[in-house]
Amino acid sequence: MKGREVLIAIRQAIRFCLDIVLPPIDPFQEDEKKWKDICFLEAPCCAQCGFPFEYDVGEGVQCAACLVHPPRYSTARSAMVYDDASRPLVLAFKHGGKTDNLSKFAAQLRRVGRHSLADADYIIPVPLHTQRLIKRRYNQSALLARALAKITTVPFHSNLLHRVRATPSQGGQSAAGRKRNVQGAFSVPENGKAQLKGANIILVDDVMTTGATVEACASILLRSGAKRVDVLCLARVIRKDVQTESI
Ligand SMILES: [Zn+2]
Repeated sequence: MKGREVLIAIRQAIRFCLDIVLPPIDPFQEDEKKWKDICFLEAPCCAQCGFPFEYDVGEGVQCAACLVHPPRYSTARSAMVYDDASRPLVLAFKHGGKTDNLSKFAAQLRRVGRHSLADADYIIPVPLHTQRLIKRRYNQSALLARALAKITTVPFHSNLLHRVRATPSQGGQSAAGRKRNVQGAFSVPENGKAQLKGANIILVDDVMTTGATVEACASILLRSGAKRVDVLCLARVIRKDVQTESI
């Protein structure tokens, strides 16, 4: 037996022993367990930003934050609460490149976006700056948007909104800091304005924290001719300490 074959045999023997002591984890079963604990968002909620209400207070009621500072987008809906249960799934997708759950994520976006999707013209992702795109190799919001477009009749468009300024990570920033951070960060290319004119846009993002990013995107899309912008997010931070959350 050659040295390499001996090494392989030893490795196999060690793995066999480890499997007896520590049975291998089935990643599918692990994911199923995680999905069971997820807090999915649905009505009753704020008619505009989708913040969940404990009780049904009637249709069209807005939360205090939306009444004080009405967002530029028409509605925002998120599929799940960003918490201890959803965090591993979201982070594995966002930073770990794990796309196994993409079709489930898209189905969840379709569930919460069924009303706005009905008369939407384009599904577009919150863009990443080129530098970050190169570093991360993919835009997780674009993957979500494309997967959502695949299971609806609404076309995906990735070239209507650009991130023109590389912004520092939003993690650990205050609400005001996040707002400042994204000001002027997005733009609509000249050749996109004709397509945006009078269009109903579905804007897709992965995690909504203070809403500063989607607000900045909605603002430039509307200024560039879009008729309305509805936001769909995979997960939303609901806790009050969002300012210190690092995502
Ligand atoms: Zn609200």
